[in-house]
Amino acid sequence: MNILNKLIVWTIPLVPKTIVHKVASRYIAGETLDDAIQVIKSLNAEGCCATMDVLGEFIKRKEEAEPAVEEYLRALDRIEQEKLDANISVKLTMLGLKLDFDFCLENVRNMVQRAKNLNNFVRIDMEDSPVTTDTLKTFSTLRKEFDNVGFVIQAYMRRSLTDIQLEMKKHKHINVRVCKGIYIEPREVAYKDMAIINSNYNLLVAELLKNGHYVGVATHDEKLVWATFKLIHDLKLPKDKLEFQMLLGVDEQLRRIIIKEGYKVRVYVPYGRQWYAYSTRRLKENPQIAQHVIKRFLGF
Ligand SMILES: Cc1cc2nc3c(=O)[nH]c(=O)nc-3n(C[C@H](O)[C@H](O)[C@H](O)COP(=O)(O)OP(=O)(O)OC[C@H]3O[C@@H](n4cnc5c(N)ncnc54)[C@H](O)[C@@H]3O)c2cc1C
Repeated sequence: MNILNKLIVWTIPLVPKTIVHKVASRYIAGETLDDAIQVIKSLNAEGCCATMDVLGEFIKRKEEAEPAVEEYLRALDRIEQEKLDANISVKLTMLGLKLDFDFCLENVRNMVQRAKNLNNFVRIDMEDSPVTTDTLKTFSTLRKEFDNVGFVIQAYMRRSLTDIQLEMKKHKHINVRVCKGIYIEPREVAYKDMAIINSNYNLLVAELLKNGHYVGVATHDEKLVWATFKLIHDLKLPKDKLEFQMLLGVDEQLRRIIIKEGYKVRVYVPYGRQWYAYSTRRLKENPQIAQHVIKRFLGF
């Protein structure tokens, strides 16, 4: 990131929330479950499926986990009632991972059990490196009990190849979303060079596919999309061995191109009242949009 972009990113916290909301609203379905359901209906009509994310991260008291669990259970029920093509994505720090491992495990277990009853699926998002080991441990414990749970691996993490190899050894079949990784990590734990991150991304996808596991290729980077098309071609695999995943509001044209190629595309649909942290993270990731926010703030 160049100096100007860094400066823009540092300025974001100074911008009033109303302006951030206006620009970031394309990345968020809205504040309520009804808002998310409407967005998913239109995505399904376009030929995409979805994964719902109730916004919120890192709770400080156990009681704060309860509304999140309730909201996710309601979301699973609504998906079923409305016959939508969607599953859920959950962040474990929102369910108490940093407070009490077993408490968090029980919360996720409730969701995976409800999803199982409804023939649905729970994706455990991957957060920053202090919680990687416990996140994988949660997945692995639940995968022994249920087949409808998956996790996420980040290509920027130096440990990721070893992590997926271990999970592949432990379980006959795993369902893994591969992404680049969004948190700021020290160099000891994460690659910093984008070329290495991209190569590692392709390596992780290849390892999983070659060993017969299901992959969610979560990216908007067309180079990686192309590399995945090539891999499917080289391995002579059917196109339903993976799905592409993209964030709501990002590169809708690429979404349509991938669908046209005959692949499944799942859109990540965040909603909820805690939209600010999510929005600013996405803006920091994309300085061009952040620049637009700052310009509006300064009245240019
Ligand atoms: C479905 C999904 C789930 C994810 N889950 C996780 C997770 O659990 N843990 C985690 O750490 N990370 C997660 N991420 C985020 C991911 O790690 C990356 O930070 C993010 O996707 C950007 O990487 P990229 O592969 O799109 O490549 P990049 O090289 O960052 O971007 C490729 C192109 O897409 C554009 N682009 C990318 N992001 C945006 C944006 N927000 N707004 C506008 N344009 C954009 C870029 O400008 C660029 O042109 C997820 C991403 C997706 C798509």
